[in-house]
Amino acid sequence: MDSDNIKFVLVETSNGGNIGAAARAMKTMGLSQLALVSPCEFRTYECYSRAAGALDLLDNALVCQTLEEAVADCTQVIGTSARLRSLSWPQIEPHDFTELFGNAAEGAKIAVVFGRERSGLSNTELGLCSQLVVIPSVSDFSSLNVSAAVQVLAYEVRRAVLALASDSDDRKVVKKTVKPGDRPASHEDLERMYSHLESTMLDTGYLNPENPRMMMPRFRRLFNRASLNQSEVQLLRGLFASLEKMSRRIKSGS
Ligand code: SAH
Repeated sequence: MDSDNIKFVLVETSNGGNIGAAARAMKTMGLSQLALVSPCEFRTYECYSRAAGALDLLDNALVCQTLEEAVADCTQVIGTSARLRSLSWPQIEPHDFTELFGNAAEGAKIAVVFGRERSGLSNTELGLCSQLVVIPSVSDFSSLNVSAAVQVLAYEVRRAVLALASDSDDRKVVKKTVKPGDRPASHEDLERMYSHLESTMLDTGYLNPENPRMMMPRFRRLFNRASLNQSEVQLLRGLFASLEKMSRRIKSGS
């Protein structure tokens, strides 16, 4: 896993100083891909002074309106949170990055998403994440400043990248060429698949819009856990299409 394929995304950061400090934290650990979702006005003195020499990250930061846009090109989206949510998300420890990156297919692009200073990430935003990293702080004072959380996780990314690099040197691992269908499904592929799943379930009556019973978040969690590749997404969409066809036939009585 190459550091250029790891993107840190900061959602609606409200303090420019935190954005500068996050850029510095990333640069010290060899990370350069920074995305800012609806940030505050960050081109301020405080931001630039806290960034120290990491001005290039700020100048090249991708600024977008929504988290969806920021992660559209990513194959895996990992959320971060100071606390656990009611719907239990698959949780990983920061040191699990080594295993996660080691298992990532060639061409994988991973986003690590950080929430707002006051309220963290919304449940909808967490819905875009396949896993949640929680830095194991003490339970009655668990929330780090967002730039401190960026530093801790940037360090863990660095450790993982170094460990995997020496591992592959040692074992002279030769990367296999990957067939197109084996490539991990992109976030956009998955979102299209979820829309298809939802319309199919509405069509067949399995999903009742009056009483959705968290059906979509539960399916998202299940499929996110499976790390689908492109041909598996096509396989599932073929199944949804055939269910839709059958449901139409039954409704028309033919
Ligand atoms: N009250 C908010 C705290 C937000 S702190 C909440 O309960 O979510 C701002 C951001 O810093 C968080 O959204 C998360 O991205 C990161 N962060 C803070 N503490 C963290 C921790 N212990 N583990 C992982 N991320 C953390």
